[in-house]
Amino acid sequence: MSVKPIKDLSKLCVHTITTKSWSIEEAGERYEAAGVKGISVWRQYLEGRNIAQAGERLSNHGLEVVSLVRGGFFPSVSSTERKKALDDNRKAIEEAAALGAPMIVLVCGADPGQSLATSRAQIQAGIEEVLPFAMEHGVKLAIEPLHPMYADTRSAVNTMEQANDMAEAIASEYVGIAADVYHLWWDPHLEKEIERCGKKGNLLAFHICDWNSPTVDLLNDRGLMGEGCINIKEIRSWVEEAGFSGFNEVEIFSDRLWAMDQQEFLDKIVKSYYDC
Ligand code: ZN
Repeated sequence: MSVKPIKDLSKLCVHTITTKSWSIEEAGERYEAAGVKGISVWRQYLEGRNIAQAGERLSNHGLEVVSLVRGGFFPSVSSTERKKALDDNRKAIEEAAALGAPMIVLVCGADPGQSLATSRAQIQAGIEEVLPFAMEHGVKLAIEPLHPMYADTRSAVNTMEQANDMAEAIASEYVGIAADVYHLWWDPHLEKEIERCGKKGNLLAFHICDWNSPTVDLLNDRGLMGEGCINIKEIRSWVEEAGFSGFNEVEIFSDRLWAMDQQEFLDKIVKSYYDC
C-alpha cells in the first residue's frame, strides 16, 4: 500500500450536515476560518434562502461547492410516489444549478414492499428519466451505494459493484458514483470495484468518516476519522490510484458529536483529517 500523506487542506470538504446546528451562513464563515476549501450543501440548509446568493456567499468565503445533497428516493410500490420523486429530483437539479453545485448525491431509495431487484430497476429508470434535465442544467448525478443495513428503505444499491453496473448501463458522462467509506469499507471486492469505477471515468466523489465499534445507532453514530475501524488511508489510496483527484468530503452524522461545541468539533475534524 503506497499512501501519500495529506499535506494540506486543499482537498478538505465538509458536509453542512456534519456541523448540523450551523446555518449555511455560519458554516461558510467558520469553514473558511478553519481552512476548509470545499462544502457540500444539504438541501434543508437552503430553505428560505435565495439559492444563487447563498452560492455566491460561499464562493466569497473561498469555498468550492462540491455537491448538493441529496436527490434520489426513486423506488416505490406507488406510481404516484414515483412520480413525486421525479419532480423532487428535478427541483434538486434546479437548486444545484442555482447554487453552483456540479453534482447531486443520490440516496437512491428502496421500498420494503417490493424486491430489491424491482427497486433497483426503478432507480435506474428514475435516473434515466431525469437525466436529460440534469444535462440541460449541467448537473451530474452521483449514485451513492449505501451499506446493506439500509437496503430496506434507503437504498437498493448497496455495493460498489451494483453502482458500477448501473452507471455503466446508463452510460452517460453525467452519471457516476459517490464512494463513501462508511458504506463500503467491509466489501472484499472494494479495491477491484473502485479501480473499475475509475477506469470508466465514473468516480465522482469520495466521502469519509469512521465506523464506531460498537455502533450504537444505525444512522446517527458515525465516527470522526480515526475513532473507528475503517481503513480510510488504504481506501483513499485506491481511490487516488483510480485517478480520483477531487475533494475528501467529511460527512458525519453523530448525536454524540453534534452535542459538543461545533467549533471544537470542526477543529477536531481538521486535526484528524491530516491522518486519514
Ligand atoms: Zn456519503
